[in-house]
Amino acid sequence: MKFITYNTKNFRKIEYLKNLPEQVKHEIEVVSKVLPFKTNNYVIDYLIDWENFETDPVFILNFPNRNMLHEEQFKEVEKAYTQQLPEKEFLGIVNKIRLQLNPHPANQLSNVPKLDGEALPGVQHKYRDIVLFFPSQGQTCHAHCTFCFRWPQFVKDLDLQFSMREIDMLTRYIKENEYIHEILFTGGDPMVMSPLTISKYIDQIFEADIPHLDTIRFGSKSLTYWPFTFIPGHSDEAEDMLSLFRRIVDKGKHLSFMAHFNHPVEMDNSAVEEAIYNIRQTGAEIRTQAPVLRNINDDAEIWREMWLKQVNLGMVPYYMFIERETGPYAYFELPIAQVYDIYRNAIKYTGSLAKTVTAPVMSASMGKVHVMGVIDNPADNDRYFMMQYVRHRNVEETYKPFLTHYDEKATWFNQLVRTDADMILTAEEE
Ligand code: SF4
Repeated sequence: MKFITYNTKNFRKIEYLKNLPEQVKHEIEVVSKVLPFKTNNYVIDYLIDWENFETDPVFILNFPNRNMLHEEQFKEVEKAYTQQLPEKEFLGIVNKIRLQLNPHPANQLSNVPKLDGEALPGVQHKYRDIVLFFPSQGQTCHAHCTFCFRWPQFVKDLDLQFSMREIDMLTRYIKENEYIHEILFTGGDPMVMSPLTISKYIDQIFEADIPHLDTIRFGSKSLTYWPFTFIPGHSDEAEDMLSLFRRIVDKGKHLSFMAHFNHPVEMDNSAVEEAIYNIRQTGAEIRTQAPVLRNINDDAEIWREMWLKQVNLGMVPYYMFIERETGPYAYFELPIAQVYDIYRNAIKYTGSLAKTVTAPVMSASMGKVHVMGVIDNPADNDRYFMMQYVRHRNVEETYKPFLTHYDEKATWFNQLVRTDADMILTAEEE
């Protein structure tokens, strides 16, 4: 199957769009001036139910709609777009709105480490044992998710991208920090890179000979957006990609493929099943993660089915996230309490093998906050969230349970108040 990308320039060529109302197409066009839009022929042919596109989870996941911007933001861009303002002026309006959408939640820019006093801009080092690497050729995806918290990476006009062409500084940095034992290739999606390009990075890592670096991870949504990457006969490079995986495993490294699935429909065809099987045959493990999103997967039955399918296909459920406060957040957000209910009502009906998932979790500035439960205290007739950091910038702060006052409307950690008064959350801790 040939890979065909559709973006804002050519999206009206998509055959299925012909039947969509003109107003819908117009709104996609307007919103995609602000938020990145990209899809491909696999997504539109295999994953979307076009008869019911308005409620179809993959359509909403992939195609922007007007409700993803605030009404006044939408109107401002629409006006500028229909008036055909000069490019510079138009971009000024668009970028102003992008900056209103909290492009760097959880203070990501503060995670950039330094080597010899020089910042490593393609690297984030937040947790002691792992570095995130953003290879410059991997700063896009086969298609873009409308909710994505990495959306500024794909907006070329906004100078907020992480990238680094050379990996030697990174390998030196890892070598000097013996407690780092994992590297996560992320993006975008590192699986948009050719196996040859990824091999060059991996070879440099191997040549650097870092004994304490024992795990290599790839964060990817390619199983949803282009599973042919792992199916020889459907992609020229699939055999090379699988060989690369085998080479990493044969080198004695633990290879973990961090797959991103938002809905069971993404696992509902033979292509994705074959791709999963082929990856597992290389000796790599596949772990799965995704956020809970209003309008896409805000239902316990969807999660129960998703975890069941993942386990049956040999994957390991890993994280269920609470959606981050960035981009079209208002469209996707859910109260923490509701996400917790979705989790609980899903997990209690799964078999033990799905109970590997840690959930629900907020990736906040100081670390990953795990909502462990809701507690009613008869002594004070009050209700609390019990939480803990499962990851924290300071490893000593992990796995210490704490309580916050219950708030059924709160959608993010910084809206809650800890019971230990001297620990009341500050903006820094968001
Ligand atoms: S595949 Fe991942 S990085 Fe790419 S748009 Fe979707 S969520 Fe964002």
